[in-house]
Amino acid sequence: MNFQKKIALIGCTGSIGRQVLDVVRAHRDAFSLSALVCGGRRERLLPLAEEFSPRICVAADSYRGTMDALFEGCDVAFIAAGGFAGLAYTLAAIRAGKTVLLANKESLVAGGEIVMGEAEKRGVEIVPVDSEHSAIFQALHFDRRAKFSRLVLTASGGPFLRKTKEEMALVTPKEALAHPTWKMGKKVTVDSATLLNKGYEVIEAKWLYGADFSQIDAVVHPESIVHSLVYFEDGAALAQLGYPDMRVPIQLALTYPERLPCAPRLDLEKIGELHFLRLPAEKFPCYTLARQAGEVGNIFPCALNAAAEEAVEAFLAGRITLPQIAETIEGVLAKTRKGEVTFAGLLDADRRARTLAQDMLYGK
Ligand code: MG
Repeated sequence: MNFQKKIALIGCTGSIGRQVLDVVRAHRDAFSLSALVCGGRRERLLPLAEEFSPRICVAADSYRGTMDALFEGCDVAFIAAGGFAGLAYTLAAIRAGKTVLLANKESLVAGGEIVMGEAEKRGVEIVPVDSEHSAIFQALHFDRRAKFSRLVLTASGGPFLRKTKEEMALVTPKEALAHPTWKMGKKVTVDSATLLNKGYEVIEAKWLYGADFSQIDAVVHPESIVHSLVYFEDGAALAQLGYPDMRVPIQLALTYPERLPCAPRLDLEKIGELHFLRLPAEKFPCYTLARQAGEVGNIFPCALNAAAEEAVEAFLAGRITLPQIAETIEGVLAKTRKGEVTFAGLLDADRRARTLAQDMLYGK
């Protein structure tokens, strides 16, 4: 099989970026890299430049060229940058007319309306990489516009599923970073512990699949083997199963509808049992806050995300407790007013929300 895809990889030293590079290493005949951009861990960049010989290899904060230049000569843009910073790259890749393989969920959480609008206008495809949305994509036969009646996202429940509200006020950053099934970057791991991540994924699903919020549910599935389900009009449901391994959705985003060898085959007899239970939203206010901000729309999901990025940083630094992440988000949203949904408007909303969050976290 010969895809010969040239990839511009944004966020090449993070958790997802490193796994993209593993996929490229495993299929050198199929993939090459035209650009490598890193946010942090720049000491890893030079060895990668030597290994993959991309046309451009830069650390984001010292890059002085145009965004467009990053996507020249690539076939696909893999956006694996973390946080709100990923949105500018996603929009630049769309403007350059490149297929976007989207692992940056904040692009859709904060900027879903403009990202999907621009992509539609330019006929650019947005390919999901998040494991839940990849599962849905697979169940819909790689057609984001296919008909369905319901989407059900599975959630591991994170490390604190069985803790009481009171116990959650005592958890440490180290405990929050010990995810039971997935190995991920720090921000998304904390977001998985508060279930903010699942709220984000509801918003992602809305934009990717044109679903109404009333059509999107989440169910707790501690084993993380069923990666999500799609229900159809006749009552049938299709799911995608596999071990929790991001290389599968990463590779599939590059090769679909074809598949290449990637991960160990699922051994159901060894797994034995799978469990599904109601998501206890009352213990995880971040999940509901994200859903509500998503339903209000406008710049509110962007403000929610900015507040969350600031609050999670403060939690990881030991300044606030886990429940205070939700309190910070709620406080910021209460002071947020409607704004203009343009890139400039979102930048402004992001900045304002961060200032509000910092005032709450560090005092004026
Ligand atoms: Mg996910």
